[in-house]
Amino acid sequence: MERKNLKIDYSQVGLKVGLEIHQQLNTRHKLFCKCKPELFKDEPEITFLRRLRPTQSELGQIDPAAYFEFQKGTKILYEADEETSCLVEMDEEPPHSLNMEAVEIALMIALMLNAKPVDEIHVMRKTVIDGSNTTGFQRTCIVALNGELDIKGKKIPIQHIAVEEDAARIMGREGSTVRYRIDRLGFPLIEVTTGPVIYSPKEAEEVAFAIGRILRATGKVKRGLGTIRQDLNISIKQGALIEVKGVQELELLPVVIENEVRRQLGLLKIKDELQSRGVREEDIREEFVDVTDVFKETKCKVIRKAVEKGNKVLAVKLPKFAGLLKFELAPSMRLGKEMADRAKFWGRVGGIFHTDELPAYGITEEEVRRLRLAVKAEESDAIVFVADAKENAIDALKAVVERAREALRGVPEETRAANPDGSTRYMRPRPGAARMYPETDVPPIQISQDYIKELKSKLPELPEQKLERLMKDYGLNRKLASQVLDSEYCELFEEIVKETGVTSTLVAATLTETMKALKRDGIEVWRVSDERLLELFKFVGAGKLAKEAIPDVITWLSKNEDKNVEDAIKSLGLSMLSEEEIRRIVRETVEKNMELVKQRGKGAFGPLMGIIMRNYRGKVDAEKVSKLLKEHLENFA
Ligand SMILES: [Zn+2]
Repeated sequence: MERKNLKIDYSQVGLKVGLEIHQQLNTRHKLFCKCKPELFKDEPEITFLRRLRPTQSELGQIDPAAYFEFQKGTKILYEADEETSCLVEMDEEPPHSLNMEAVEIALMIALMLNAKPVDEIHVMRKTVIDGSNTTGFQRTCIVALNGELDIKGKKIPIQHIAVEEDAARIMGREGSTVRYRIDRLGFPLIEVTTGPVIYSPKEAEEVAFAIGRILRATGKVKRGLGTIRQDLNISIKQGALIEVKGVQELELLPVVIENEVRRQLGLLKIKDELQSRGVREEDIREEFVDVTDVFKETKCKVIRKAVEKGNKVLAVKLPKFAGLLKFELAPSMRLGKEMADRAKFWGRVGGIFHTDELPAYGITEEEVRRLRLAVKAEESDAIVFVADAKENAIDALKAVVERAREALRGVPEETRAANPDGSTRYMRPRPGAARMYPETDVPPIQISQDYIKELKSKLPELPEQKLERLMKDYGLNRKLASQVLDSEYCELFEEIVKETGVTSTLVAATLTETMKALKRDGIEVWRVSDERLLELFKFVGAGKLAKEAIPDVITWLSKNEDKNVEDAIKSLGLSMLSEEEIRRIVRETVEKNMELVKQRGKGAFGPLMGIIMRNYRGKVDAEKVSKLLKEHLENFA
């Protein structure tokens, strides 16, 4: 079987996509306490250990993944500091009342999306299974329903708009202990959910883009990496509904969708192939063979290390699966990798080996031959094996067998996580229904008609109107105005121009093109705060910094977050030369190039200007040099 990278006809495959956009709001406090919604960088001041416990929902359903982790004794180590968390985040104190600043921002966004605000806001609990919430659930509340967005004449329904608390962030996993930092827990998020009426990857990007513009139009959303997260529901005919979590970059949305469609089409192909090979579910058995002896003298480091620790190598036969594990579903996605992901999740192993990729990793052809003998496998069978503690190896192979059986049925329903390259990986089984139940510690909040009327009267400009205004008020062309509008710096742009008097095109180009170029070069520009950028332009406006030096200063500031612009100028040696010094440089340069001046007279201006700017770029103001050089050359005319 070979994968053909053909263009996909999305209407033919019946693609349906729904978007869930999560965006952090820029409020003074967290959603249910007065802590600052900020992350801390240093070592934690407080740590505490909890056991993961499954939460029983009203219907008495226990999430299988949570129950499994609980059984395995997974422990969670939480890290905190005093400034960004209190007893609420630690689940030692009930939540305080709902942050009305966050509710107001969400309601404004809802009104801009033509949604109907609810009469009463009820905080609900949503079961969370991975320890990312100290309580075992996430608090969420719907603020509006049934909105609508017009994209190129097509109505995209907005199912609901909710306010939620963000979860703790994962810092690492050591053995059976997972480390989470609870500074992010309780950050207010807005969730905007569209109906599953998006029919192509490109359309998904357009919808997400339009919603993002509206969120930013409020000027009340956080910016930078990790502050917006897009989840996707993707399905195709005969495939399955797959939830993909955590796409952080807008440009990645269409890539993730295309890859997911290819993955599902590939899995359907494998299903057909298995059927034509006559494989039945009952043929795939949980018979695990101890093959440690086969690898007694192996040169494979991973296996040797494991065996030296007293671990076992266990193998399972997958009848007539040969060649299918390495079949590429989509770029860097294979059935073998899906099995490995399952094995890692359920068996806590580092990975699996399978015969489709052997001989390799120091494993010889002879070892593969003996392996086949040991598990009584033919050339047409595939073998998967794991070197780990026996208990883990068994759990891992059980998960592999389950995934192999699912391959006979097509695409398994699951929750997947997006990788930075646009591929996805197994995250957990899809949670069942009935995950929500009421939060009894927070009273409901009435939303009056008068309040909504008042909000309607102070809604921010819609993106289209703002675009026109940027062009009119600041003399930007449509392209630059559009870039400013879509950048994270739209509010800052207006502030800088008003406060510093620097020309609007320079500010606009810096905040869009220069920032983009620096980001492309790997500079972490989001580390430079608004305050620093404003300060930077104040220096430029006052003639204390050449505009040519702006990229260098931003780069330096991104690496020295606790320093200011003055520090940058000193450190980079960018102090501007005084008029007196420029006069001296002009005089000296002319003297050194007297031949040229004699030959060409005023025509020497261009080359001389070039020499000076090359030597003193960033330290001199080009206009000043030009003026003084012209004056000086007059003497030789
Ligand atoms: Zn708190």
